[in-house]
Amino acid sequence: MSIAEAARLILEGGLVAFPTETVYGLGGDATNERAVAAIFEAKGRPQFNPLISHVLGPDEAKRLVRWNDTADRLAARFWPGPLTLVLPRAKESPVALLATAGLDTVAVRAPAHPLAQALIRAVGRPLAAPSANRSGAVSPTRAEHVVQSLGDRVRMILDGGPCQVGLESTVLDLTTAPPTLLRPGGATREAIEAVIGPIAVSDAIPSGDSARKSPGQLASHYAPQRPVRLNASTVAADEGLLAFGPDVPSGARLTLNLSPAGDLGEAAANLFAMLRALDQPPIGRIAVMPIPPTGLGLAINDRLRRAAADDGTGRQR
Ligand code: AMP
Ligand code: MG
Repeated sequence: MSIAEAARLILEGGLVAFPTETVYGLGGDATNERAVAAIFEAKGRPQFNPLISHVLGPDEAKRLVRWNDTADRLAARFWPGPLTLVLPRAKESPVALLATAGLDTVAVRAPAHPLAQALIRAVGRPLAAPSANRSGAVSPTRAEHVVQSLGDRVRMILDGGPCQVGLESTVLDLTTAPPTLLRPGGATREAIEAVIGPIAVSDAIPSGDSARKSPGQLASHYAPQRPVRLNASTVAADEGLLAFGPDVPSGARLTLNLSPAGDLGEAAANLFAMLRALDQPPIGRIAVMPIPPTGLGLAINDRLRRAAADDGTGRQR
């Protein structure tokens, strides 16, 4: 087991599982769209949910997000530890759009586990790291669990022994006033309020004992302002075309191809940047070619269906 080797794999775009104080994480370079696409592919998750960028502390976080005094006070009290802060994306933030599922906010956390810290330090970049299991399987608390669930989908597993059985990190949105608790976890509401005063609790968190929500449902989704038309085989002159594969209809005002070669990993990596680029004047509507519903195509189609279901006012349903 070598941290230097693990860091080299991550800088190449590979995935390495590593222990945190909560569960084993499936780590990749949070600044590399292809590496983040590979995380979703390895997990087999049929949706893109925003991932947490793991950093060493406030100094690194400040390069990714617009930091503020509240974040400073919370980090002084809870970092390193199980508190994730959602903040506005910094102007020059290097975090991949896929890692934030296209949102204008970035979730940052400094984990306490020494191996996680050593890996982040060696990579010198933030690590995107959801739990290291296939979608729907339980979160892994031992290296063997990662092997069972992900097998050869990870390049390396840093074995830190069993995780202290802990809660997930608390997710706190600092972009609202007052801040909003998006997910309960290891840092309690009371402890947070002792530092920054009263906070709100997201409507999406049910009270009572079903308080654990599946990740992704809590964050609102990115939706283009323009109407989105799916399964397009022809295009109109006022449309922007989000193409896929080699055979592309002509006539669109602007065409951007998710992957001319038909590679779903490349398509996932390009998805949010291209949607944003098409959601501009003078384009009136976004037409999307069919994307095969296999592998990463499931999550790509999920996101596009939600964009198409939106009423075009930017409001989300
Ligand atoms: P996990 O990686 O499994 O610990 O889950 C990450 C959690 O953080 C999920 O509940 C996400 O919805 C939430 N999250 C991550 N980034 C954001 C964001 N930018 N805005 C809101 N919630 C986020
Ligand atoms: Mg999980």
